[in-house]
Amino acid sequence: MTEERRPSVVILGGGFAGIGAAQKLEEADADVVLVDRHDYHTFQPLLYQLATGLLDESGVGHSIRDLVHDEHNVTVHKTSVTGIDLDAREVQLAGMDALSYDYLVLGLGAQVNFFGTDGAAEHAFPMYTLTDALRLKDHVLDRWEAADKDPSLIEDGALNIVVVGGGPTGVESAGALAELYRGDFARDYPNVPQDKARVILVEAGPSVFAMFKQNLRDYTVKALEKRTVEVMTGEIVASVSPKRVTLKSGETLEAHTLVWGAGLQGNALVQSLGLTLERGNRIGVSPELTVPERPEVYAIGDIAAIIDEKTKQVLPQLGSVALQSGHHAGESIARRIAGKNAKPFKYRDKGTMATIGRGAAVVQMLGGKTMKGMKAQVAWGTVHLALLPTNEDRAKAIVEWAGAALSHQRTGRITVSAESE
Ligand SMILES: Cc1cc2nc3c(=O)[nH]c(=O)nc-3n(C[C@H](O)[C@H](O)[C@H](O)COP(=O)(O)OP(=O)(O)OC[C@H]3O[C@@H](n4cnc5c(N)ncnc54)[C@H](O)[C@@H]3O)c2cc1C
Repeated sequence: MTEERRPSVVILGGGFAGIGAAQKLEEADADVVLVDRHDYHTFQPLLYQLATGLLDESGVGHSIRDLVHDEHNVTVHKTSVTGIDLDAREVQLAGMDALSYDYLVLGLGAQVNFFGTDGAAEHAFPMYTLTDALRLKDHVLDRWEAADKDPSLIEDGALNIVVVGGGPTGVESAGALAELYRGDFARDYPNVPQDKARVILVEAGPSVFAMFKQNLRDYTVKALEKRTVEVMTGEIVASVSPKRVTLKSGETLEAHTLVWGAGLQGNALVQSLGLTLERGNRIGVSPELTVPERPEVYAIGDIAAIIDEKTKQVLPQLGSVALQSGHHAGESIARRIAGKNAKPFKYRDKGTMATIGRGAAVVQMLGGKTMKGMKAQVAWGTVHLALLPTNEDRAKAIVEWAGAALSHQRTGRITVSAESE
């Protein structure tokens, strides 16, 4: 007599969405395989803290194997997904055999969209991955050390930074970089005139934080300006070269660093699936979060265009949406394997929030109530601590945030190179 095979569930991506799904499959009578190109999960909301030396790598990247080691039915592979054949129910992977599945969970996230801006792919510093944040940190430190040795570079704009995008990524990056400049760097490089080290935030629309109410937008501009960030709205970046940023208006900004926080699109792999894609190359999903005509395939997190059943709007690309949709997919598959019906996804909105700098954040609740300043920063901290994957990570983040708040010091502002001395 042949033993019956357990259903196999393949989860692609170890972000909030993929990890959330794996954790909810713990009790399922299934073999679960989680694939990610990295052996770590990236906590993107804290990338700006890594880029500005407030946290080190281990505060932002967490071992995926650690995160699922209590789920005994989950196996992890560190490899790149190179192809997905939805008809054959098979996933192709780099350097190992293809995986067959009974259920597939697509949690591959998004990728940066440069909107075809000339030179951006080659010269901009995006803020999406852990390596992006480290690259930016090293580059900024390199520019300051270079200017320290050769002050003529300062006049060439070596220390100026242009940040593109007035959404949460751009605003939090600009705020944190300005605090790094006016705090630690002012002490580290006392001979560098701070007015020659500008942080300029460029937003194409008429205001920063378009998703927030006017009072929060006004507060954000004030908080940025208090930190010496120069806010330019209604300006579009036309091209980027290693030392210059040209705007569509014709103005040229002398800056050796351009941080790109302006846009995302669904992971490039979605284009090969033969699916009709929604705005931003995201996969449209059913209320259960399955892909049209493919009830065995779930799409969750940033890769999916999930309609909120309450507002009928597409949910934003947020950690809480990714985690909750991941939990839903995991629970839904577990229910189906147990012979029960799947239920529609219901998003629990904890408010839209973003940080600007130390003690400065904004929160807008679903009902329209708003908060700003330190109160909002505490709310941001509470919601984001809950997103951190383990209690150990939460404890570590609290200690590091408290330490930085008291000392105002960014101890991670060192460059470690693997090259020989
Ligand atoms: C700078 C920044 C700040 C943010 N701040 C906040 C915030 O304050 N609050 C908030 O709620 N949200 C924030 N977000 C959004 C939030 O981080 C995302 O919505 C969330 O991470 C999406 O989770 P995900 O699991 O869908 O995708 P991801 O977290 O992107 O995970 C996708 C995973 O898939 C893997 N992968 C991709 N392609 C392949 C491949 N071909 N093969 C193998 N593996 C692959 C990646 O390595 C990655 O681990 C921020 C995002 C950024 C970029």
